[in-house]
Amino acid sequence: MGLGQLKGYLGAASELVWPRDCAGCGAPHQALCPECRLELLGPVTRREQDAPRLVPADGGPSLPVWSSAAYSGVVRAAIVDWKRRGRAELDREMLRAVARTAERAAPGLAEALDRLQASMLVVVPIPSRLLARIRRASAGPPALAVAVAEALVGWGLPARPRRVLARRTGRPDQSGLGLHQRAANREHATRVVGRPGAPVLLVDDVLTTGATLLDAERALSRAGAATLGAIVLAVTPAPAGPSRSPGQVS
Ligand SMILES: [Zn+2]
Repeated sequence: MGLGQLKGYLGAASELVWPRDCAGCGAPHQALCPECRLELLGPVTRREQDAPRLVPADGGPSLPVWSSAAYSGVVRAAIVDWKRRGRAELDREMLRAVARTAERAAPGLAEALDRLQASMLVVVPIPSRLLARIRRASAGPPALAVAVAEALVGWGLPARPRRVLARRTGRPDQSGLGLHQRAANREHATRVVGRPGAPVLLVDDVLTTGATLLDAERALSRAGAATLGAIVLAVTPAPAGPSRSPGQVS
């Protein structure tokens, strides 16, 4: 074995033993450094006001979305790295973040369940596009949903994860369609493939405009299921700045 080959083997072995540099800031020898972890595990707040599509024009109530981080800076870098490069040690960090958010959101969810006189919450991951699923190397929303359900059960709220949503495939060609038709096309991108049988909590990695969550909520509603809210890892900050309605719960 040549020296170069030996170095190659040692390099590959060290990748297995020692985590690579921090996915957020690049600090050496740790999957996520303490400073970046603090950013990911920020205060758990309601952040739906940052997603323009989730704020009804008529001033009615919007779907509550709980998260502990803004999708910017080191958090954005860490989530992108987690999705694209599938670092197993980052799975733990991301699952822990949503589990913590679920514990903080649990009292509000329990109240909402009581109001509906329901005794079980179904935790549903937002389905990814096929291409995103193929490219994705990490655990993804289904694993986040399992972590959320486990945290809620640990808190004392009966919950179980279920994959009842799928994305429609074979969307018609968008070219030649007007703006309105394109929007309508996007709006019905989610379909219900299983009966939730209980009120739903949606789980996704990142919330941007809220269009995907809204589409999922509407699809569930057409199938007769109520959506109580959503938990996401991080929320893209509104252009105006940080959340206008903190509604902090921790
Ligand atoms: Zn870092």
